[in-house]
Amino acid sequence: MEKTVTLAHGAGGLETALLVKELVKLFAIKNTPGGTGLRELEDSALIPLGEYYLAVTADSYTVNPIFFPGGDIGKLAATGTINDLAVMGAEPLAMLDTVVVEEGFPLEDLSKIMNSMARVLEEEKVALVGGDVKVMPKGALDKIVITTMGLGLVEKNRIVRNSGLKPGDVIIINGTVGDHGAVIMACQAGIEVETSLVSDCAPVTKAMRIALEVGGVHAAKDPTRGGLAMALNDLAKKSGVSILVHEEKLPIREEVIAYCEMLGVDPLTLACEGRVVLGVDREVAAEIVEALREKGYREATVIGEVIEGRVPRVYMRTKIGGTRIVEEPRGEIVPRIC
Ligand code: MG
Repeated sequence: MEKTVTLAHGAGGLETALLVKELVKLFAIKNTPGGTGLRELEDSALIPLGEYYLAVTADSYTVNPIFFPGGDIGKLAATGTINDLAVMGAEPLAMLDTVVVEEGFPLEDLSKIMNSMARVLEEEKVALVGGDVKVMPKGALDKIVITTMGLGLVEKNRIVRNSGLKPGDVIIINGTVGDHGAVIMACQAGIEVETSLVSDCAPVTKAMRIALEVGGVHAAKDPTRGGLAMALNDLAKKSGVSILVHEEKLPIREEVIAYCEMLGVDPLTLACEGRVVLGVDREVAAEIVEALREKGYREATVIGEVIEGRVPRVYMRTKIGGTRIVEEPRGEIVPRIC
């Protein structure tokens, strides 16, 4: 049977990682001299530029529905791009976007979406310096797809790498887990989303600046597709360590737990769009959590720690005192979540 692309290949879990690994093999030149790229597969690639690195990232947005509680595809595209720069320690500078839209799409909706994108970029002082618009015939595309490219600058001594975790480090998250994923999942299932639950879609630049100001940040990642489970596994693998998470410390909203139970999904696999997972020096962990809480991230908290691990794994100490392995998610999870 001919092998074809499945929705699981786009879900951000194991299948995505395996597909990317295969495709990446086709490209002989994987980074610029002295920089990083396809070999490292971090949130942004780095291109050396004197005292700085130019951080570069690209992303596509296919979220369904395109308007959801707490945001829309335009806000998501801008924040997602900014966040992949910010977690590397970079200051986002500029973005480019390409919009592919279906014939018959309401112009008013298009302008709403672009307005949301514009508002995020303006607040974050990020320039939109280029882009493209294409239209496909009715039925050839589901409404709209937005692709972005983000550019940022980071001083060489301020860089934060996915591979930087060390045994003894403490894992912090700046807010609740899985809000965005739960909202999209509920919308797709036709469940009316409770007004108290909105997507966490927001830039993490402020959270990163707060943490970097305190110092001792060894690694950072935005737990988007594949959720916290994927992000932690990725950090563990790239750093060659294991991570132990404490279930009782995980900040998860009651509504998110309820939707997850209803639809049989693990909240750890649900995408966040305004969260950052930080691996920090134990000495400064309390100070970073305090600083985050003081500056508006009231649910910021320690969720675990980094431990030695010859085989990198993510473990969870459960509420009842057992320990289980948190695997990289697989299958469709929630399709078209971002
Ligand atoms: Mg990322």
